[in-house]
Amino acid sequence: LAFSSGVMAQRYVVGTNASFPPFEYVEKGEIVGFDIDLVKEIAKLQDFEVEFRDISFDSLIPGLASGSLDIVAAGMTITDARKEVVSFSDPYYSANQSVLVHEGSEEDLTVLFGSNDIGVQTGTTGDTWVRDKLVKPDILTGELRNYDSYVFVIRDLANQNIDAAVLDKPVAETYSKNNPVNVVAEVITGEEYGIAVGKNNQALLKEINAGLAKVIENGTMDKLIEKYFE
Ligand code: GLN
Repeated sequence: LAFSSGVMAQRYVVGTNASFPPFEYVEKGEIVGFDIDLVKEIAKLQDFEVEFRDISFDSLIPGLASGSLDIVAAGMTITDARKEVVSFSDPYYSANQSVLVHEGSEEDLTVLFGSNDIGVQTGTTGDTWVRDKLVKPDILTGELRNYDSYVFVIRDLANQNIDAAVLDKPVAETYSKNNPVNVVAEVITGEEYGIAVGKNNQALLKEINAGLAKVIENGTMDKLIEKYFE
């Protein structure tokens, strides 16, 4: 028998969608990124353990609701609709939406109109924005194409199978570095990312907010921003 000194640390399952660089992406078979480092740092400071699951974005909130996930760290925007179902930490990052096109079609200012096809990741604020602002008022008569992963949105845009993609600007900019795609417009949506937990998991939320405050205060947040954004 081995002796253990004290109580075993609590282990939490963290859901993410690793097609959202630099916040979460897969590198050499590992899930890495800003959010991953952030959650690991919070876990270390608050003395709990984490393991990450890479699943589709629109399965993350249901995962918290069903209890298969304890935490979601996925560049997830704090919205009133989501707050009905889950609880969010204090905000940790601000972002707007953006329009991404194939290299060389930057001059086509009609990309969001008419019969163009626009790709989004299902369940995201970009998806909702295109549906509410372009599809419902019939501004877009082309297809709104829904994907499970931005990896496939970017692939289809690079292959010119779609005309544009709408997604969070920092992520669009990251993809534009290694793919023949460019950001042509910013949509000012004023979003803020939060870490989510189950609606009634106030104890865990308190731990996360306490850890987040320490990460900001001890300079780790600045280091993460430097590591992933400069
Ligand atoms: N911030 C956006 C949202 O919350 C996109 C997040 C993502 O695709 N990982 O819907």
